[in-house]
Amino acid sequence: MPVRPPTPSLRPRSSDDVMQHGQAPHPPSLQGEERALEAAQRHVEELRNRINYHDYRYYVLDSPEISDSEYDALVRELRRLEESFPELVTPDSPTQRVSGRRVELFAPVKHRVPMLSLDNAFSPEELAAWIARVARRVGAVPAYACELKIDGVALSLRYEHGILTRASTRGDGFVGEDITANVRTLRSVPGRLRGSKPPRLLEVRGEIYLPLRAFESLNAQLAEKGERLFANPRNAAAGSLRQKDPAVTASRPLKLWCYGLGLVEGVDFSRHSESLEYLRRVGLPVNPALKTVCTPDEVQAFCAHWQAQRHSVDYEIDGAVVKVDALELQRELGQTARAPRWAIAYKFPPEERTTLVKDIEVHTGRTGKVTPFAVLEPVRLSGATVSLATLHNEDEVHRRDVRVGDTVIVRRAGEVIPEVVGPVVSKRPPHTRPWRFPKKCPSCDTPLVREAGEADWRCPNHQGCPSQAIEWLFHFASRGAMDIEHLGYVTGTTLLERDLVKDPADVFFLTAEQLAELPGFKEKSIHNLLSAIDAARNRPLRRLLVGLNIRHVGSRIARVLAQAFPSMDALRHASLDELMAVESIGLEIARSVHDWFEKPENMRLLEKLHRAGVRMREEAPARAARGSLSGRTLVLTGELEAMSRDEATRRAEAAGARVTSSVSKNTSFVVVGANPGSKYDKARALGVETIDEPEFLRRLGERPTLH
Ligand code: NAD
Repeated sequence: MPVRPPTPSLRPRSSDDVMQHGQAPHPPSLQGEERALEAAQRHVEELRNRINYHDYRYYVLDSPEISDSEYDALVRELRRLEESFPELVTPDSPTQRVSGRRVELFAPVKHRVPMLSLDNAFSPEELAAWIARVARRVGAVPAYACELKIDGVALSLRYEHGILTRASTRGDGFVGEDITANVRTLRSVPGRLRGSKPPRLLEVRGEIYLPLRAFESLNAQLAEKGERLFANPRNAAAGSLRQKDPAVTASRPLKLWCYGLGLVEGVDFSRHSESLEYLRRVGLPVNPALKTVCTPDEVQAFCAHWQAQRHSVDYEIDGAVVKVDALELQRELGQTARAPRWAIAYKFPPEERTTLVKDIEVHTGRTGKVTPFAVLEPVRLSGATVSLATLHNEDEVHRRDVRVGDTVIVRRAGEVIPEVVGPVVSKRPPHTRPWRFPKKCPSCDTPLVREAGEADWRCPNHQGCPSQAIEWLFHFASRGAMDIEHLGYVTGTTLLERDLVKDPADVFFLTAEQLAELPGFKEKSIHNLLSAIDAARNRPLRRLLVGLNIRHVGSRIARVLAQAFPSMDALRHASLDELMAVESIGLEIARSVHDWFEKPENMRLLEKLHRAGVRMREEAPARAARGSLSGRTLVLTGELEAMSRDEATRRAEAAGARVTSSVSKNTSFVVVGANPGSKYDKARALGVETIDEPEFLRRLGERPTLH
């Protein structure tokens, strides 16, 4: 199997990029006040959209595209802007709410005590400021419980009379998912508490994680099967926990550290540390690093110690958590809608290491983009062994002047793809030469092109380049697109090499006889793959659009397009103007989509997909039946105060509704915001119910305001 570099599509944006986007406007002068507010509003919207998109990739797909520190930079930027323009704060802003998502795979579970997020401190100074704030509020320096911040997945366990009765995820903090069947398979979670007098009710909060060694061997197994690897142990834990089949969860050695309580009846505590001691006594795992301290210096020392020692444990920690120990003071300090005021997460900075560049190679991705990457002397970084790191593009290699033979600094901010930060020039051996970008595609030898104004070199041989073909097939089958389980890199390569498949549409015509010829395929694996392919025929249009490899069309844009044009036919016939009339679609994306449909080879592909019985329209999301709006069809008009149109659509769909763009007598109700359009008049004329935003939030099952 060819060496696969870090997936270019997962290329992290540089932090420079984040910062450029993120310049907070200065407080406005009186004259420019309105314009500054408008600019800030646009910027705030853009940041929220980006954060929502990354939340979706992180919490739903378990497949982040940017590092946690880059994500944190976006949130901090948003917070800074909202501090400068408090009128722009809305209750659904990522700064105001718990940042998880509920995946509609399991039954919902309401948390009577919400599972909140934590506020962050990114430096000792920020930590000191929080300590001072707390001391001011409570009028003294309290005792603190210091813990490790385990980078896993939050879990709530409910024990009734000592028996485990339910396990649920955090979800959006207020409603999680019931994953009891999966959690029951874990040996690290006791099914029954120790001791003869268990409390009536004990809700325990903890973090499920995958030990680093288990993570590495899981990824090694997946690589062997040519399946998608997990970006980091956290994603692996999340993915392992949310399995439809508990047997898969059982096969992953997930572990638990408990760090708090939810609802409790029949037992009482006065200090947080005391409650953790109790959990330990009744047989629940509590991390041994827990330390109670009495001074700010000791808090700082704890954080500094674990920052230096973060790799001395066999699981990933991304910081330390400092909590006011006395429960009475915790109650006094209270909480916001997002996080308690009595705790703070001290986040460790992204990790960097030095290693040797053995070679610089390039890889052709699914759209033909050619990405350079460094082949490194393997180095352990953030709990994983790293041997390849992205160099982004030609200009970046030259800007950083990375050469073969250099010692370089690599960074992997606990997640996603490692990148080369730059060379340590003082360690450069003599006679190294600046690296030159190759002239030809490493896969098909076609001369590469780089168009004016573009940063990337491309292989123009879209029809015949083997590397583009396999990357496209792999992408088509990936979870964010058509989600064809069992169709991984190895199987895909074999299918292409044997000419059984030329493009992704051919996958739908594969037969059991053809698969039986492939190495390692037996009755069960043939059945599994064919069933997975069959299931993919029914994916909604937005997923198919992601898989088609249209430039600029990732999952967010695909969703927007499929909402505006709910069938492939409607999208195909949309003019440039009609495309650009859709929110979030600018000229570049509109042109890319429009041009894609102009190409005969793409029309042939669509025709083949159609023949294969692939669904070509959007649909109400599966599992809608359980949502508060299940079976309802609604239309949005006017501007909503608390959320953008996209966000409203997403939430309504998550609650089981179908959101359409025009009012008919089949419309259940119309949500009317400020300055409504003609849809409002039409609703009135047809006698369709109209509701305002607070009522909409109520029907979504959410409180109208979070304060
Ligand atoms: P968080 O992960 O920073 O902190 C809250 C969580 O920490 C709790 O829910 C709990 O599960 C966990 N935790 C671990 N040890 C704990 C302990 N000892 N005590 C209490 N809680 C403990 O915040 P979040 O809201 O869960 O997630 C936001 C973070 O997730 C971001 O800061 C970012 O790092 C990451 N994220 C990344 C992306 C991305 O695209 N890379 C997207 C979304 C979120």
